[in-house]
Amino acid sequence: MNGLRSLILRLAPERWARSMESESRLWRSLCNCGHEWSVWDEGGIRWGAAGEPRRLRRCPSCGRVAWRVVRKHLSS
Ligand SMILES: [Zn+2]
Repeated sequence: MNGLRSLILRLAPERWARSMESESRLWRSLCNCGHEWSVWDEGGIRWGAAGEPRRLRRCPSCGRVAWRVVRKHLSS
């Protein structure tokens, strides 16, 4: 995933790459333990997308794997 992301960022124009990063940071998952992290933190990109997808994700803090709703927050 990180390889794919760096490839996308290398091919995209500079301002697109910045936009992808800032928007990806707004999409966040929340764990039952209270830890919250963004799509960007886990090495992904979410850009120009709508809706609230469910993804199987491991919490970077407690390590629990669960289906998590990815929500867009207005500020990071
Ligand atoms: Zn957790």
